[in-house]
Amino acid sequence: PVVLGVESSCDETGFGIVSEGVLLGQGLASSAAQHADFGGVVPEIAARAHLDAAVPTLRLALADAGVELGDITHVAATSGPGLATAVHVGLAAAKSVAWSLDVPLYGVHHLAGHAAADTLEHGPLPERSIVLIVSGGHTSILAVGDLVRDPIEHLGDTLDDAAGEAFDKVSRLLGLGYPGGPAISRAAAGGDPTAFSFPRAMLRQGDAPYTFSFSGLKTAVARTVETIERAGEAVPVADVAASFEQAVVDVLVTKAVRAVRDRGLDTLVIVGGVAANARLREAARQRCESLGITLRIPPIRLCTDNGAMIAAIGDLLVRSGAEPSGLGIPADPSAVLHGAQLPLLR
Ligand code: ATP
Ligand code: MG
Ligand code: FE
Repeated sequence: PVVLGVESSCDETGFGIVSEGVLLGQGLASSAAQHADFGGVVPEIAARAHLDAAVPTLRLALADAGVELGDITHVAATSGPGLATAVHVGLAAAKSVAWSLDVPLYGVHHLAGHAAADTLEHGPLPERSIVLIVSGGHTSILAVGDLVRDPIEHLGDTLDDAAGEAFDKVSRLLGLGYPGGPAISRAAAGGDPTAFSFPRAMLRQGDAPYTFSFSGLKTAVARTVETIERAGEAVPVADVAASFEQAVVDVLVTKAVRAVRDRGLDTLVIVGGVAANARLREAARQRCESLGITLRIPPIRLCTDNGAMIAAIGDLLVRSGAEPSGLGIPADPSAVLHGAQLPLLR
């Protein structure tokens, strides 16, 4: 199979082409700059940008992969979760391609795509592993087996903000703009991560072991900035950003590693946009190395939204013999991923 993956759930328009677990090529466009003035993604602007970018980005992916459109044997597209207007555009584009080529269409779960991204770099997942998904909309610890066949077990989630959302909100209040993750990281370089001791929520014994909460951290950063400003002093942005990053990273790594050990497993996979964070990557590497845990994190370009990851989960579905979704598949903006639900949406 030569599988085309289409991603449009947020502000990235992505097309990727995967065959038998191998990434042949991809194209990626982002409307992030158009949302910068608003401090977050504006759904209507994102949808229009997907429409503008769809055909040129598909062309880029085909050229990058060195394949013709007619070589595509299957199409997979994010059908949820995501911004409804945005998902619709990519899904419609995917339907058009599938219909015109008369090839099967698979609607796939965006988060299963994030997890599958890692297989493009590190090969098939082991029989069982812990997956930490840290993205703009999700912060979840999952116990997974075969991504296509086995039920995904949800161990914990965030009670309020997602990790990426916390980066975006703190970036906004520090005046660093959108998207917040890269902006905070740049600002934090050279900062002292111990300058401020921001709260690490729910880390104590007796707290829900795999549950996150980031809204208190965001509030603590806001209070700190207010207090400094009220005193008429300059906000030490680098120190605040580094201390905030460190607080997020401590909680994420502690809870994810705890899940691996509690389950007696030996592999931790970290995926999603926040997995691009250098401080998180380094902290997880050190912690896993000292405990003998195998750590898998995709390269940065496969952490944030992209079409390759959707092609990757599509390729796994095709090779496992899954029934296609069909051209009538609706967008499912609030699709869930747990229990017996498979990555394939219908
Ligand atoms: P979801 O996958 O939950 O639907 P999404 O698709 O919007 O949400 P992703 O594209 O996976 O999310 O990730 C985007 C998020 O990752 C943003 O919140 C962004 O700030 C964050 N992010 C990107 N790069 C970094 C980084 N270097 N450090 C920290 N966070 C980052
Ligand atoms: Mg994005
Ligand atoms: Fe995402």
